[in-house]
Amino acid sequence: AESPAAAAELRAVEYASMALITLAYRRADADAALPDGSGFLVPPVDGRTIKASTFASRKWGWIADEDPDVMVLRTSVGRYGETEILRRSDADLVEVSRHDLREAVGLTAAPLETRVTRWSDGLPQYPVGHHARVARVREHVAQLPGLAVCGAVYDGVGIPACVASAYAAVDQLGGDLSAVRELTAAPVQSLHGGAGE
Ligand SMILES: Cc1cc2nc3c(=O)[nH]c(=O)nc-3n(C[C@H](O)[C@H](O)[C@H](O)COP(=O)(O)OP(=O)(O)OC[C@H]3O[C@@H](n4cnc5c(N)ncnc54)[C@H](O)[C@@H]3O)c2cc1C
Repeated sequence: AESPAAAAELRAVEYASMALITLAYRRADADAALPDGSGFLVPPVDGRTIKASTFASRKWGWIADEDPDVMVLRTSVGRYGETEILRRSDADLVEVSRHDLREAVGLTAAPLETRVTRWSDGLPQYPVGHHARVARVREHVAQLPGLAVCGAVYDGVGIPACVASAYAAVDQLGGDLSAVRELTAAPVQSLHGGAGE
């Protein structure tokens, strides 16, 4: 099934690219510096390069279990429209992460290992009017029996929101439109005659 109208709407959505910098430290080094908690966010007004740090070994037990003597942290860079930072080399991104971590929490130790993972166009952006766009996409798609849509571009980029949109899409295919109607802010009249009904 093809929906050129839905495709055209989706093509207009803009995406932000980002990179994750993963740093593994000797646990004793990291524990001495890091504050309590599972990480921190950095607002743009702070003027730093990293936009967040997750203390992965604290946030997810299975990472800590892999090696109790190692503390894994990650930082992320690349806000919407910030493309210059993502052109830097892996080594530069590690350096800037270490710099900002030093400034933020006083972590000065050298990491044991590092890895940079780049997510090009990884995060859809929701400008004003996005909800109406999503409603239009769903309206177009509902014309095609057996097709429903879900994922980060629709009802929220977080994994729980993606899962909720997947459940709603499955319900839609089975003829139950209550969840998809609830997710779609504006009532979508043509969903009444849509797939599964
Ligand atoms: C770096 C990063 C960190 C994040 N951290 C968090 C977090 O901590 N917590 C959280 O809740 N959310 C987080 N998110 C957001 C969340 O992970 C994503 O929004 C979510 O995983 C998107 O799910 P999705 O199913 O829509 O898309 P995806 O997970 O991207 O799945 C799309 C799938 O479709 C496949 N595909 C693409 N094109 C085709 C094609 N033509 N044919 C067949 N298959 C195709 C792809 O290979 C992929 O497997 C993060 C996102 C990023 C980028």
